[in-house]
Amino acid sequence: MNAKDLRSLSDQQLGMDREIPRRDFLNGAAMTIGSALLANSIGTNNRSDEPQNHAGYNPPVTSGLRGSHAGSFEIAHGLRDGTFWKNAPAPRALAEKYDLIVVGGGISGLAAAHFYRERAGAKASILILENHDDFGGHAKRNEFHLGGKLQLLNGGTMLIDSPTPYSAVAAGLMKRLGIDPVALDKKCTDHALYRSLGLGSGVFFDRETFGVERLLRSPRGLEEGSAESPETESRWKEFLAQAPLTDAVRRDILRIETQNVDYLPGLSSAEKKARLCRISYKDFLLQIAKVDPGVATFYQTRTNGEWGVGIDGEPALDCWALGLPGFQGLKLDPGSAPHMSYTAAGYARGGSDRFHFPDGNASIARLLVRDLIPGAVPGNSVEDVVTASANYARLDTPGSAIRIRLNCSVVRVRNVALDATNGVGEVEVAYATGKDVFQVRGSACVLACWNMAIPYLCPDLPEKQKEALHYLVKVPLVYASVGLRNWKAFRKLGISNIYCPGAYWNAVNLNWAVNIGEYRSPRSPEEPILVHLSRTPCKPGLPAREQHKAGRMELLVTPFEIFERKIRDQLVHMLIEGGFDAARDVEAITVNRWPHGYGYEYNPLFDPDWAEGEAPHMVGRKRFGQIAIANSDSAATAYTDVAIDQAHRAVGELFSS
Ligand SMILES: Cc1cc2nc3c(=O)[nH]c(=O)nc-3n(C[C@H](O)[C@H](O)[C@H](O)COP(=O)(O)OP(=O)(O)OC[C@H]3O[C@@H](n4cnc5c(N)ncnc54)[C@H](O)[C@@H]3O)c2cc1C
Repeated sequence: MNAKDLRSLSDQQLGMDREIPRRDFLNGAAMTIGSALLANSIGTNNRSDEPQNHAGYNPPVTSGLRGSHAGSFEIAHGLRDGTFWKNAPAPRALAEKYDLIVVGGGISGLAAAHFYRERAGAKASILILENHDDFGGHAKRNEFHLGGKLQLLNGGTMLIDSPTPYSAVAAGLMKRLGIDPVALDKKCTDHALYRSLGLGSGVFFDRETFGVERLLRSPRGLEEGSAESPETESRWKEFLAQAPLTDAVRRDILRIETQNVDYLPGLSSAEKKARLCRISYKDFLLQIAKVDPGVATFYQTRTNGEWGVGIDGEPALDCWALGLPGFQGLKLDPGSAPHMSYTAAGYARGGSDRFHFPDGNASIARLLVRDLIPGAVPGNSVEDVVTASANYARLDTPGSAIRIRLNCSVVRVRNVALDATNGVGEVEVAYATGKDVFQVRGSACVLACWNMAIPYLCPDLPEKQKEALHYLVKVPLVYASVGLRNWKAFRKLGISNIYCPGAYWNAVNLNWAVNIGEYRSPRSPEEPILVHLSRTPCKPGLPAREQHKAGRMELLVTPFEIFERKIRDQLVHMLIEGGFDAARDVEAITVNRWPHGYGYEYNPLFDPDWAEGEAPHMVGRKRFGQIAIANSDSAATAYTDVAIDQAHRAVGELFSS
C-alpha cells in the first residue's frame, strides 16, 4: 500500500479482521471479564461468588471498550429514566452494618475511607461500593503484555499535575503513600529519550479539514506557546511553507506566533484581561487579531484536551494562560485575574509538581488500596506498586475493617432516624448487582460518586440542592491505548507526538518513557510500544455544557468497531510514509470511554458570577443528615488533588456536630 491508495481502505487493509486482544462479541454485546462473571453472581448474596473473588479476575488486562464499560452504567441510566424501580426487586437487607459507607471507589472515595479511618481509628468499619469492575474511578490502568513484556498506560487520569500546588492535605496523603513527585520524576522519567532519537512534535493535516493530507514536524514551541527568536521565525516559515494552508493563513499564523503586536492598544493590562475573559479565543483571533478564518481552524482543538471544547468555547484569557499565541505584544501582567477558569487561573500562577506513573494516577489508587486493605496490592514501596498484581479477592473479605465491593451500583441512599428524640441517625444504602438489590446500613455515608447523579440516589434532598447538582455536567473524553509491534514508523518520520487539528483523534503520543522499580519502558524503535490517542467529542458553536452533552451522546452510541476503525485509519494516514501498516503493526487496542469524564469547571463565557456560597457545586455538596458529599465535582473541577481535598472536607463534615 502507498500513500495514493489511502482514500478507501478496506477492513482487510486496516487489519480489522486480525485476531488481537480487543473486545469479544457475544450476540453483539461486549463481554468483559467483569460482565461475564457478573452473570454468575445473579441471585446470590454469597460474597465468595462475587465476580471479584473469581480466580483470574484482573480488569486492567481487559481490552476492548473500557472506561465506562458495559455493565457499569445501565442501572444508573435506569434510575435517571425512572425505569429502575419499576423492574427491580425489593432490596434485601444484609446483616451488615458499617461505621461509614462510601459510594464510589475513585480517588475521592478511597481517600475518604483513609481520612475517616484516621479520625475514627483503625477499627472503623468501612464499605466502599463501586459500580465499575475495578477501583480507581477515572484513575484506571490499562495493562498489556507486548512481546512478553509488561507495558502500561493510563486508561484515564494521566499524571500528577494540577493548576495549583497540592494542598497540605493532598500533599500529606501523597507523602504517606510514599509519593514524592519531584524525586520520582528526576529518578524515573527519561524526558530526553525521544529527543535523543531525533523525534519531536508533529502536526497532522487531514484531508477532510485541510483539503490535502500531510504530516509535518512542527516548529519548536508550537506545543508550549511561541518563543520570539528569529530562529523560531525561520522554523515557522519552513513549517508553514509546507503546510496545506492558503497564503493568507500562513501569513497570519506567522504573525500571531512570532510578532509582538499589541491588538488592544491603549488599554491597561487589567483592562485587557477584563476584555479577554469575556471573548472566546476564536473571536479574539478573528475579531481582535483579525486573522484569516483558516487560522482558527488550525488552532481549533488546541484546548480540547484541557477543557473538552475547542477554541470557540474557551475564553481568550484562559488560552493566554495555556500558552496559545497572539498575546506576546499585549504585555499582560503575569498571574491570574478575575473571571478565569479554575484551570487557567491556577496555571497562570504556576501549577503543581508533576509526575507520570506508567499507569497514570492508577498507581495512586493502588497505593491507597494497599494502605486501606493489607495484602490487596502486595509490596511495600511506591516503586513496586507499578508491577504488583492486585489481589482482587482480598478487597471484600468478611472480618476486614475496610471492604471494597465492585460491580455494585448504589441506587438509593437515605437517612433513617433510629431515635427521633435524640436525633441519632443512620444511613440506609441500597445497591444493585446483577439482578439483585441489597441494602446495608451505616452510621454515615460519603457520596464520592458523580455529583450530577446524586439527585437520583437521594430523592429526599432539598429541591434547590438537587437542581444545583444537576448543573454539574461532566466533560466526555475518550482515551485509546494501542499496542504497536514497533515504532519504526515514528522513528523514520522523526515524530513522537502529533497534534491533529481536524482529525477524529485530536492527539496521538508515544507512551511516556518512565522506568520505575522493575518496570522498563521501551527504548528501541524495534520494540513494541503503546500509543495514546485522545478524542474529546463536542459540538463547536454551542455553549460549553451543551457541547459536553452532545459529545456524551456521541460517545454512548459509538461502538468499539468504529473506534477501532478510526484508530487504524488515522494511524495509517499519518504514518504511511514511515512504513506503517495497521494490519501488521497493531497488536492490541483498549478504548477507554469516559462519557462522564472531567468534573465541570465554570467557564467565564457561559456561567454567571455566582454570589458567595451560591455556586452550584457549593449548594450541591451540602451535608444532608448523615450523608456528606465528596468527589472532585464538589469543587467544580477535575484534578486528583481536588478529589482528595474534597474527601477530607466531606469526612470533616461528618465529624462536626
Ligand atoms: C480521561 C481523564 C483524564 C484525567 N487526567 C487527569 C490528570 O492527568 N491529572 C489529574 O489530576 N486529574 C485528571 N483527571 C481528573 C481526575 O481523574 C479526577 O478529578 C479524579 O480522579 C476524580 O476522582 P473522584 O474520585 O472524585 O471521581 P471518579 O474518579 O469519577 O470516581 C467516582 C466513582 O464513583 C463511581 N460511581 C458513580 N456512581 C456510582 C453509583 N451509583 N454507585 C457506585 N459507584 C458509583 C464512578 O463509577 C467512579 O468510579 C482526568 C479525568 C479524566 C476523565
